Amino acid sequence: MLLTRFFLPVLKENPKEAEIISHIYMLRAGMIQQSASGIYSWLPLGKIVLEKITEICRQEMIKSGANEILMPTLQSAEIWKESGRYDDYGKEMLRIKDRNNRNLLYGPTNEELVTEIFRTHINSYKELPLNLFHIQWKFRDELRPRFGVMRGREFLMKDAYSFDVDYNNSIKSYNIMFMAYMQLFKKMGLKAIPMKADTGPIGGDLSHEFIILADTGESEVYIDKQLLNIEGSFLNINYNEDLQEEVNKFTSLYAATDEKHDASNFDYKYSNLIKTRGIEVGHIFHFGQKYSLPMRATISDRVGENIPVFMGSYGVGLSRLVGAVIEANHDQKGIIWPKEVTPWDYNIINLKCGDIDCDKICSQLYNAMNKSTLKVLYDDTDERAGAKLARADLIGLPYQIIIGPKGIKDQLYDLKCRKSGDISRLSYDELLNFVQTNK
Ligand code: ATP
Ligand code: MG
Repeated sequence: MLLTRFFLPVLKENPKEAEIISHIYMLRAGMIQQSASGIYSWLPLGKIVLEKITEICRQEMIKSGANEILMPTLQSAEIWKESGRYDDYGKEMLRIKDRNNRNLLYGPTNEELVTEIFRTHINSYKELPLNLFHIQWKFRDELRPRFGVMRGREFLMKDAYSFDVDYNNSIKSYNIMFMAYMQLFKKMGLKAIPMKADTGPIGGDLSHEFIILADTGESEVYIDKQLLNIEGSFLNINYNEDLQEEVNKFTSLYAATDEKHDASNFDYKYSNLIKTRGIEVGHIFHFGQKYSLPMRATISDRVGENIPVFMGSYGVGLSRLVGAVIEANHDQKGIIWPKEVTPWDYNIINLKCGDIDCDKICSQLYNAMNKSTLKVLYDDTDERAGAKLARADLIGLPYQIIIGPKGIKDQLYDLKCRKSGDISRLSYDELLNFVQTNK
């Protein structure tokens, strides 16, 4: 991508309305623009990252055996009356009337709608287990929208719903989602810690939140230090196996959000405990027959008896994750994208556009990298060198290739690693070799 063709409206100053670093950087790097309180347009840079995060999540869901569907944002109030949540949900739900005076709502979550789809088509245990997921915008009229996309009113969620014949199978499905979450956050370059959680308005008997540690997080959390050291043994999960043991690895160590934390018997029992803050990026619930019973989503079981199906629901906050990744990966100059979700891998910076030699080497390199499908953003604008370098640090691509008159003279070009700040001076061939072996 040529920067002269890319819509990247960066801001020089820190926006006054932003309190936390991810919000500041997302505005400054031209990723989002507020349209109303807690409601944002996604500009190209933001959209690319949102898409990457979404795709990692989607692929892991598919791998785990879930089916992607797409339910609408607007739902009929009728099904919410059936489950009893139309009145319970309160002011967070945006209620709308159509021209015929019918009650609609902008979905804050989809348990009812997916249960309606299920009950229309599935009647027998033979068609189970089943997991349906979708990726769709939600609306919750939050009391205090804040921190940019972290607590918006309109936000993108991946929500999955499992259906099983009995409690034990339903827990198996819960465990599959549990491990899929560990996996997909890892694939985004994040370390998410699962914690016992309250079930809130979704309801149910078993629930975990997935939390990324960050000082700016809204949740206060208590965790066993050892959890920080459990590493990737969960990669390449076989979703066809019983995953209870894998799940136990994470749930046997203490981790709880402040709502669940029991301070009274704590200090002496868990000496490894640390109190810290985090961002909730996912939340899974097992609630059995809570919706299938009132909504009559029944199946015939193995002995031919009609029973309400057992369910769970599983949410990932995709738009919140864009902010969360930045909270976990930045410095005082800007964002430092993990390679897993970076919009491009390389940023070629031409320090003197218009100079024949600089232009020539930059274009040559850009074309060579594009040919080998390396992802590269080429700053071909004719701005000051200082402004270009500051912008490159702000938008935070993993590597910068900096080419100016001095480099041309020596035939050595700067390769800067955004994260470490280390700069190596390489010949053209060494550069090409580096980028090609470092895909
Ligand atoms: P929170 O406790 O942060 O209000 P929640 O428990 O109400 O979230 P869930 O119903 O569990 O949220 O939704 C699943 C996921 O959607 C959450 O884990 C979170 O990542 C994301 N999410 C929820 N509310 C918001 C919001 N207002 N803005 C952005 N993302 C959100
Ligand atoms: Mg939650």
